[in-house]
Amino acid sequence: MRIYVPADSAALSVGADETAAAVDAAIAARGLDATLVRNGSRGMFWLEPLVEAETPAGRIAFGPVTAGDVDSVIGAIVDGTAHPLALGLTEEIPYLKNQERLTFERVGVTDPLSLADYEAHGGLAGLRAALGMDGAAICKEVLDSGLRGRGGAGFPAGIKWKTVHDLPEGQKYICCNGDEGDSGTFADRMIFEGDPFLLIEGMVIAGIAVGATEGYLYIRSEYPRSIEVMKRAVAIMEAAGWLGANVGGSGRTFWLKVRRGAGAYICGEESSMLESIEGKRGTVRSKPPIPAISGLFGRPTVINNVLTLAAVPLIMDKGAQFYRDYGMGRSTGTLPFQLAGNIARGGLVEKAFGVTLRELVEDFGGGTASGRPFRTAQVGGPLGAYVSAGMLDLPMDYETFAENGAMVGHGGIVVFDDTVDMGAMARFAFEFCEIESCGKCTPCRVGAVRGKETVEKILRGEDVAKNVALVEDLCEVMRDGSLCAMGGLTPMPVLSALKLFPEDFDRAPKLAA
Ligand code: SF4
Repeated sequence: MRIYVPADSAALSVGADETAAAVDAAIAARGLDATLVRNGSRGMFWLEPLVEAETPAGRIAFGPVTAGDVDSVIGAIVDGTAHPLALGLTEEIPYLKNQERLTFERVGVTDPLSLADYEAHGGLAGLRAALGMDGAAICKEVLDSGLRGRGGAGFPAGIKWKTVHDLPEGQKYICCNGDEGDSGTFADRMIFEGDPFLLIEGMVIAGIAVGATEGYLYIRSEYPRSIEVMKRAVAIMEAAGWLGANVGGSGRTFWLKVRRGAGAYICGEESSMLESIEGKRGTVRSKPPIPAISGLFGRPTVINNVLTLAAVPLIMDKGAQFYRDYGMGRSTGTLPFQLAGNIARGGLVEKAFGVTLRELVEDFGGGTASGRPFRTAQVGGPLGAYVSAGMLDLPMDYETFAENGAMVGHGGIVVFDDTVDMGAMARFAFEFCEIESCGKCTPCRVGAVRGKETVEKILRGEDVAKNVALVEDLCEVMRDGSLCAMGGLTPMPVLSALKLFPEDFDRAPKLAA
């Protein structure tokens, strides 16, 4: 029998290592014929540490299980008796059952560093298929799938790949952007720690498709466990012949290096990431040229987010049409949404585009953790717009959200109840930009500081109408004049707060003068 206790950072933060040690001790004390497996997280964070055990009927779950609960839980598993922490069959838990897990189908299921487990659950099928195709055919398959960049911009991945593929032969690179700095996001981290071979497989396929022989995986420094797991996974794939000079015996070459990030939000911007990988300070490069033409070390480079590359193996295995059958309009496939903030059931929910925010926040998330009424959610990270309760029924897809002045981004959803102060949130948006700006362009570097000061004046009740107009004017300058999305999108949370919650900007003084 296998007993599973996650080694994902979220589970570790609530004592999964202690629970695992207690499980090991209980197995020994009872002389059980059982093995402890440290899996990834299923993404139901309120149930962590989640303990699962294999039974003839399927895996059964218990949670949250502290070290002190372990002995009685093991007793219930062995004797088949009831237990207050029992959750029944894992796959039947509604939070999981009602998802459409494509990218995350193995996360929490397999032993993340067992290549045999990976293959037994469908791993490497996409790469095997790709090795039988030429680069142009792989690029076409990705293009036909409609896969769009999951980092936030939503640019079609296939077009990027084709651009690099069509350039003359020579050194080309694949760079995976794993600098997951958006507030309330953790999907990349769950892939790193829960299904690392999937990402490597996606990067190898990208390399073969465009003729790149080297790849860099850039992981933020705040994810030490992810870096460790990915480095071990790379070594395992190299030893097994799926990375290196003769990928899978095909004669094709692809080497992969893991790079630790520099601890700056702006290094999640693609050109800053390139600077950082090259060993320089993370500042934004002017475009053109685009990285596909002149990227890492001045060579043609595909830059994709973790979730983009992690979607590729399935597309190659099942075909473009299979992937296209999920989603709506030009937003094809699924997105692993991440529920965070003031929410009863935080975690990861992978659904096809088109799911509504209400389904995510209420049906999956169970509403606010505080039990107070929902007031807003910030969707798409710290540069994303706030949405009102009236927007809860909008389908989540790139176009619908853009038409409503918002963005889906990397799928992070941070929920707030009716006690949130939207004036303070608007001030925070500018402050975040002030702290994280790389300083290269004036609208962002200076605009963020002036914006914060002006919102403070509004919150002190000084000349409110005039200062609101000034903020709106400043936002226009930042949006149109900034070099990158940091300054260009900071107006989004500010303006959405002003538009949807004007009452929070028209009130008695809040800050000390
Ligand atoms: Fe740097 Fe901000 Fe300009 Fe981007 S918008 S280049 S982060 S100063």
